[in-house]
Amino acid sequence: MVPQTDCIEFINPATGQKFGEVRSATEADVLRARREMAAAQPQWAAKSAKERARLVKKLQSVILDATDEITAVVNQDHGKSRLDALHEVFMTIEKIHHYCAHAPHWLARERVPRGLYFFKRFYAEREPYGVVGIIGPWNYPIDLMIPPIVSALLAGNAVLIKPSEVAAATGVLLEDLFNRVPELAPYVRFLHGDARVGQALVRSKPDLLFLTGSVKTGQIVAKMAAEDMTPFMYELGGKDAMLVLEDADVAAAAKWGVWGAFYSTGQACVSVERVYVNEKVYDAFVAAVLEETAKFTVGYSNDIDNPNWMGPLTFQRQCDIVNTHLHDALQKGARVLMGGKQTGMFIEPTVLVDVDHTMKIMTEETFGPTMPIMKVIDDQHAIQMANHSDMGLSAYVWSRDLKHAERVGRQLDVGVVNINDTMSHYSVARLPFGGAKLSGNTRTHGRGEVTQFTHQKAYSISRPPNAIDPVIWIRHPGTYRLLKAMMGATYGTNLKQRLEPVGELVGGEERLRSGAARAAAGVGVMSALAAMALMLLRVRRH
Ligand code: NAD
Repeated sequence: MVPQTDCIEFINPATGQKFGEVRSATEADVLRARREMAAAQPQWAAKSAKERARLVKKLQSVILDATDEITAVVNQDHGKSRLDALHEVFMTIEKIHHYCAHAPHWLARERVPRGLYFFKRFYAEREPYGVVGIIGPWNYPIDLMIPPIVSALLAGNAVLIKPSEVAAATGVLLEDLFNRVPELAPYVRFLHGDARVGQALVRSKPDLLFLTGSVKTGQIVAKMAAEDMTPFMYELGGKDAMLVLEDADVAAAAKWGVWGAFYSTGQACVSVERVYVNEKVYDAFVAAVLEETAKFTVGYSNDIDNPNWMGPLTFQRQCDIVNTHLHDALQKGARVLMGGKQTGMFIEPTVLVDVDHTMKIMTEETFGPTMPIMKVIDDQHAIQMANHSDMGLSAYVWSRDLKHAERVGRQLDVGVVNINDTMSHYSVARLPFGGAKLSGNTRTHGRGEVTQFTHQKAYSISRPPNAIDPVIWIRHPGTYRLLKAMMGATYGTNLKQRLEPVGELVGGEERLRSGAARAAAGVGVMSALAAMALMLLRVRRH
């Protein structure tokens, strides 16, 4: 239970200064919001997908007008630079733009081929779940919150949103942005607060739950959701590996590997968390990494023109995890070649070598500015090490030979392989994104992000069964040979399979004695053969 008086404070991680607070939602607030959204949702779902897209598009306009306000709040709340915050806004805008343009088509009724059922027609429609609960993380508080909310809305759902308590000021701003579109505001409710509010949201039994967060939280929420059989989609942590193959462009791999490890202070789910380098290029790669890391300036500014590449960590828990992983690695024989020092919430970009898989830094998500580098003997060794993880979000492969890199990429157990770059795949609005293994069970970005908030409802439509329909004849006893002939003629994989059952059907009818019966059977067989010819033509096409 959340106490009535609980408040979440807004703290700037770079300065330690408090700049506001918001009251936590209580259990009663959550239940009331759940009821209100259930009552409002049918009204929203009754609008056409095109109309919903038109209204959601207004949010795009609001966000564009509020760009500087958004980057200022995210900068204060999270510590990332205004530019990094703008990257988030850019990705969000791009998704809203694409989703609004395509959602009416993605959500349109789908015709289903008739198959053997000549006298019926079929189609499937996408139905919203009803009230969707979305629980989000702090690390990309704009881009990991707005696109799923928008997608759920486009699909016709009402939405309950629990932003992260670590980026609570951004959560309050998001609520405000939605309130600036009066047509959307009645269908979204923000529930501010910590894990307890998240739990209250799960207990309120939304019709679908979507969580972006850590594996640990995913496991807790999965158990709770299972109690009520609440459908649960999750995007969880990563331990993304970068593989530098023998034929890699070492300078480029080092430059963009360093960027992938330290961008956003390593606090991205797709950050480079560990690096495996072929022994033939290992020394050159490590030297290049140190050169690039030395250029990676650290500091905080709330100005649009900020010279720093990297800011502070966002909250104390993250600093503690990074320090625990560093300490554990050093105890077990790792060496820090550069960085490692902490001042306030700032930890220097840190390069480590002599690491192995007994160390947390190679097996657990660090989510900080660390780049542990391990030497491997060949591709298979690199693949084996990269796959030695419970998580499988993305992987990075560096090789001048793109076919070689693709061959290696195909053997990695991950949701996305990015060749000769790091992290950039995430910003492609329509490239399916998500993880394998514990990293996730769904895909965001593009069509999948919108359609995942629907279930399919199918329709089978006809007049009452009629006497000339072959699929009605086979409901009657004594039509075994007919059905076998239909199956063979339609789906036979060779001439024998196609013709033999038809021969059996004709031969079987010859056993009939009376002239009348023979005539009736003849008509039946002829119709069946005609029907089969038609089926062959039509069914095999689908
Ligand atoms: P977290 O799991 O601590 O929290 C995520 C959200 O869940 C927060 O809103 C939190 O309040 C809520 N929560 C925590 N415990 C809960 C509980 N028991 N019941 C209900 N709600 C609960 O994660 P975080 O630290 O906010 O985010 C960082 C994690 O998210 C990292 O592991 C990162 O890799 C992952 N992440 C994944 C993706 C992806 O797309 N796969 C994207 C971004 C972040």
